[in-house]
Amino acid sequence: MFDLVIKDAVIHDGTGGAPVQGDLAVTAGKIAAIGGKLGAAQQTVKADGLALAPGIIDGHTHYDAQITWDPFVDPSPALGVTTAVLGNCGFTIAPCKPADRDLTMRHLTHVEGMSLDALRAGIRWEFESFPQYLDMLERHGVGPNVACFAGHSAIRTFVMGKDATERTATDEEIAAMAVQVRDAMTAGAVGFATSTAEAHNGEGGTPMPSRLADDREMRALVRAMGKSGRGIYMLTKGSKTSIPYLEELAVAANRPVLIAAVFHSNTNPTAAFTTLDQINAARSRGRELVAQTSCCPLSMDFTFKSPYLFESMQAWKPAMAAHGVEALKAVYRDKAWRDRVRQELEASRGRLVFNGEWDKLFVVEVAKAENRALEGATLASLARRTNKEPFDCLLDLALSEELDTMFVAQLLHNDEKAVGRILADPNTHISLSDAGAHLTFFCDAGFGLHLMGHWSRDLGVLDLPQAVHRLTGQPAKLFGLQDRGLLRLGYAADVMLFDPTTVARGPKRRAHDLPAGAPRLTTSAMGLHGVWINGTKVADDKGLCADRKGSPGQVLRRFAA
Ligand SMILES: [Zn+2]
Repeated sequence: MFDLVIKDAVIHDGTGGAPVQGDLAVTAGKIAAIGGKLGAAQQTVKADGLALAPGIIDGHTHYDAQITWDPFVDPSPALGVTTAVLGNCGFTIAPCKPADRDLTMRHLTHVEGMSLDALRAGIRWEFESFPQYLDMLERHGVGPNVACFAGHSAIRTFVMGKDATERTATDEEIAAMAVQVRDAMTAGAVGFATSTAEAHNGEGGTPMPSRLADDREMRALVRAMGKSGRGIYMLTKGSKTSIPYLEELAVAANRPVLIAAVFHSNTNPTAAFTTLDQINAARSRGRELVAQTSCCPLSMDFTFKSPYLFESMQAWKPAMAAHGVEALKAVYRDKAWRDRVRQELEASRGRLVFNGEWDKLFVVEVAKAENRALEGATLASLARRTNKEPFDCLLDLALSEELDTMFVAQLLHNDEKAVGRILADPNTHISLSDAGAHLTFFCDAGFGLHLMGHWSRDLGVLDLPQAVHRLTGQPAKLFGLQDRGLLRLGYAADVMLFDPTTVARGPKRRAHDLPAGAPRLTTSAMGLHGVWINGTKVADDKGLCADRKGSPGQVLRRFAA
């Protein structure tokens, strides 16, 4: 007798091939049979023609901290995610010496928009090394399956302490970092992750540690990963890191390179396609370079207490260095500073996170009742109405409300024709949810449902079997996840049951449920009827199951070469 049979489903197996009608049986957490009219089971679920597919693999999350207090990493499993990859961009919390814990949390607060109060109240610091971190996750259990990167910035801080954000490394330090990478790979890291992106700044606007790495260091660490004979080199690319350089590293380490973040920009509309062309040219030479992209428009909710979207600008440095609201307000009032920001916006248009698209920057929520009429207006329209320059208009409104005005900026990836072309390229890796980070700015943890609903059903950019493949079989192969990502005999029973006619991500909403009551944006699934991880049901059409048992996920440590 099987543990579970899901009957009469339209089965998408994750390969991208045409679906078949049938049943799927599970025993001991694995797929035990697939076919018509399977036998008796302890539990039977009638699918009645709903679609059954492998669970979604979210290749770009930042759940490293959250998972230590919330093993189910809400909301991802309730959005169909059965495996999450942690440690992207190299912003891990292991390894970390006790003396560096507070610094690490303050960096994360800044670079990934995580509440410092939540991190201080929430993180279980029961580890120093990366292997100890994995052991701890295993000890306490995880909801979804997780694969963890060895993180460059954490390793650099571990070896260099405070100097990690200040200078290049010595030969001895590089050797010590390489040992950390090697040990992480031996313990079961999925690869090595780093960032050279200008938007990645830690406390006080200092660049995140990995941005200080020179060519010697980068090569040595990628090589240290490559020596293990497996692993993927993940990086979030700054404007100075070229694709030919990454191809060279890929050749030297003989390993694949995953390149984030390929977003389409209205102010520099050809850049994403140039990058894709370069990556595809390298692929045609036999190098495994993969572009990581998103299927969600990048929009950010923000207040001027923490305006992440401006922080890739040099001119923003004084604001990042200001401590406290009064000091910030003084910077924002400074006319000369405003002029410098405007000059840089003009000079660097198309290369920044925010590129001066004032018609795509909206007032979401005002703090003062008398300003209520402004909600929903764009800064372009406010500027016209008040006869002021838009940036002055923006800051003056924020200053008049003690910096509590909530704005939203539609930054990148909002031209559906262009984004559709990027998604239709079969070699791009669709992820970039950034789940676990930027919790007050956006929530794209439901990206997989959005791909199947919006892009596949509504726009027809890719058919449903392909959409499923891009979320399951393709990333499983990319990360070397063994026996996952496909519905095959003997594979892990990570599955989701959904209605293709209604599947979607729900609207975002604000919740105050993080440690220390910190706020975040979250979202619910639509059209998702069930999620099973290693054969255990964790979510139904109402979200996470209240009666779910234990922590069914596995800390993945063995990957295909
Ligand atoms: Zn990231």
